Amino acid sequence: MERDSGRTGLLGLLRASGAGNTRCADCGAPDPEWASYTLGVFICLNCSGIHRNLPEISRVKSLRLDFWEHDLVEFMKKHGNLCAKAIYEAEVPPFYYVPQSKDCLVLREQWIRAKYERKEFVATSISHDACTSGSREGFLWKRGRDSKQFLPRQFILSARDGVLKYYTKEEIVDWFNAIRAARFHYLRTTFPTAPESELVPKITRSYFKEGYMEKTGPTHKEVFKKRWFSLDSQERNLIYFKDPLDAFETGRVIIGSKEHGYEVRASLPRGVKGRRWKAGLTIVTPKREFVFACENDREQKEWMEALNEIISQPMTA
Ligand code: ZN
Repeated sequence: MERDSGRTGLLGLLRASGAGNTRCADCGAPDPEWASYTLGVFICLNCSGIHRNLPEISRVKSLRLDFWEHDLVEFMKKHGNLCAKAIYEAEVPPFYYVPQSKDCLVLREQWIRAKYERKEFVATSISHDACTSGSREGFLWKRGRDSKQFLPRQFILSARDGVLKYYTKEEIVDWFNAIRAARFHYLRTTFPTAPESELVPKITRSYFKEGYMEKTGPTHKEVFKKRWFSLDSQERNLIYFKDPLDAFETGRVIIGSKEHGYEVRASLPRGVKGRRWKAGLTIVTPKREFVFACENDREQKEWMEALNEIISQPMTA
């Protein structure tokens, strides 16, 4: 009797909308069928496996298969995912990557440990991890240039300089978020008036080269307009925006390979004149020439190098 009422009551609670219990408290997977009866959260099977490794903090039971004592059911009723979120995720930094069910075990485990074991995001916590300041120091196993073996190297991540100088395997998630913290810091100083909600999605973007250039149109007689360009080496795209913070690009140029007739020149085509900026750049494609002007010689050189590196790589199927 009691066993049945306990299970029915708990499942009813689980399905109740508005309690935040219809999704896993840790990864957001739908219809969680497990729960931590010490933390009072409903979680999915995968996350329950991680909780099982933290017996001092979390004890798990299956909603369907295990017996739920009356007092545990009452405890779950009083707590639940929204309640736990208010406590354990009170101060998740904007740059922190919150994993989802599709993410790898390392990311999900570190998220769960950070939340419940280290209590990094509890509001009253005064412990400030080095991670949140955007600076870290330590050893990194870096592959040697010639030996192909991984060698320990000391590296430093500095938010102020915007550079990564190190990491370790054990601390990879800390580093992952430290890098995000550094990038967030960079974006915030570069775009001081932009709201946080616009900057956060940009943390994950990492472009080969970014910056302003002026571009003219297909006839090369159009007025040169200043645009923000981002070169994605993986996708072989040079995309451009009216404003660096625009969500959608204005246009894109696909960067093919030398074998396919692509070429970049540090000049403007004969007879074409830039408006304000004089350091010309022409991307030659089999169909047309794309004409740009860089602010100075250094920018022109950087764009040339970045574009040439992509053009020299053969295209993969
Ligand atoms: Zn989960």
